[in-house]
Amino acid sequence: MKALLSYTLGLVCIWGTIAEADALKEARMRLVADTIEARGVGDPDVLDAMRRVERHLFIPENQVAHAYEDRPVPIGHGQTISQPYIVALMTEIVKPQSDFRVLEIGAGSGYQAAVLAELVDHVYTVEIVPPLAEWAKERLDLAGYTNVTVRHADGFYGWEEHAPFDAIVVTAAAPHIPPPLLEQLREGGRMIIPVGSRFRTQQLVLVEKKDGSFNTRNIMPVRFVPFTREDPDSGW
Ligand code: SAH
Repeated sequence: MKALLSYTLGLVCIWGTIAEADALKEARMRLVADTIEARGVGDPDVLDAMRRVERHLFIPENQVAHAYEDRPVPIGHGQTISQPYIVALMTEIVKPQSDFRVLEIGAGSGYQAAVLAELVDHVYTVEIVPPLAEWAKERLDLAGYTNVTVRHADGFYGWEEHAPFDAIVVTAAAPHIPPPLLEQLREGGRMIIPVGSRFRTQQLVLVEKKDGSFNTRNIMPVRFVPFTREDPDSGW
């Protein structure tokens, strides 16, 4: 009798887990179709990546119910996982190719890195908050990404050893574009970065490096967490 009871309970648990996974997948598909695609992201590879990456794996368990809402979600340490539409848009804008080496500044949850990792050869991502660098590393491992390297550092300096990068994605708002990032962008490469004051709406700026000079274009107003500095005297 006892054996039968625990067998039944086990089945109910497995059933519950399968039902929950199905519900999360359905919510993810709906988010991509009803919001991300509806708002104009059209690159089929980017949309596929957004369908594949399980955003709920990158946020704290008590926030899982909000995983597939199109908004930032708190991940601790005063930081947030970015809004899915913005993640998709920024990914589409850098035109990821399968042989790309990409630098991300602001690993946070690891989610944007995972979306990029679905599309490119290798992602290098830098995070200034040590426990978040650990979190991103752990979550990316758990989700099975082997082509992402996470490092704890001040992303102002980029990641010299692995430069030049075909694309750079900055996910924290900076008062101006850090010069080392411009230097580490490959000729013909693209960088997307929110620029502006931490107290106001910022501009999402696209930078293209052509013949050694930089063309910039404002894409849209956005609201990101601030780009912070390890050196308190940096004036940022
Ligand atoms: N890409 C993340 C977004 C996280 S929010 C995601 O998909 O979840 C932005 C992150 O940038 C925060 O984790 C913040 O700690 C980090 N950050 C801010 N300033 C930074 C800097 N100078 N270098 C590296 N990371 C920085």
